[in-house]
Amino acid sequence: SEVTPVFTMTDVDVSFGGIVALSNVSLDVRPGEVLGVIGPNGAGKTTLFNVACGLVHPRSGTLGRHGTPLTKLRPHDLPRLGMSRTLQGLGLFDRMTVLDNVMIGADRTARTGILAGLLGLPSSAADDDAVRSTALATLKQLRIDAYAHRLPPSLPYAVRKRVALARALVSEPSLLLLDEPASGLSSDEMDELAREIRALAEKTSVMLVEHHMDLVMSVCDRIFVLDFGKVIAHGTPAEIREDPAVLAAYLGNE
Ligand code: ATP
Repeated sequence: SEVTPVFTMTDVDVSFGGIVALSNVSLDVRPGEVLGVIGPNGAGKTTLFNVACGLVHPRSGTLGRHGTPLTKLRPHDLPRLGMSRTLQGLGLFDRMTVLDNVMIGADRTARTGILAGLLGLPSSAADDDAVRSTALATLKQLRIDAYAHRLPPSLPYAVRKRVALARALVSEPSLLLLDEPASGLSSDEMDELAREIRALAEKTSVMLVEHHMDLVMSVCDRIFVLDFGKVIAHGTPAEIREDPAVLAAYLGNE
């Protein structure tokens, strides 16, 4: 189709010492879609995610955003590019309230009280109020506003995960990168997450890296499958489910 992808990787190679983690990987995220990346253990999923958020730099290959090449993507470029991510380790600050944790995700946070205080900068009360109300709205959207003034360690894991998601959403990204969103969730919580991700896709494109097959199959428009650092298949969930190379890769790893 002629639609310009919101994000591309083209012929990306990554190796760590002698270990090839990604080999000639190309992938595109289309506007408004939920794209899943799956693969057996060690296939390269985490490396691919880290390339997409600027934590790992490919030895060769290119990244693109809305058809424009990205040179030397760095994590701090993401807000400017309308991108945000969640982390496997959540990365919440234990001694800050849920609300402050979420406000950190706002692009303008450097001018608000929290970081301004840390950095010794003058803060603007007007910016602070605007960020606070956006953060509260995001907490409400994810139905965790009741926890706004709690500290993360006092909350169940599933709630902390939603706080991390809220922090990624508060900047209103047009591309959201989710790293193993299903890990550690019960099957009920996973069903809820699936509905949530579909709802998010009304406003943002999503790329998720995940090894929980049921979630990927139920939530993604398209799926890329990695094995030993290579894309071995891509297509709709129905196509992927029947792809002989995918079945072989998973059986070979059981
Ligand atoms: P899992 O599902 O087990 O998390 P994965 O699909 O995310 O695996 P990666 O973590 O991306 O796979 O790893 C791909 C390959 O690169 C593996 O062989 C791994 O051992 C290797 N690798 C990843 N990161 C590093 C690193 N920092 N140094 C050396 N080797 C690495």
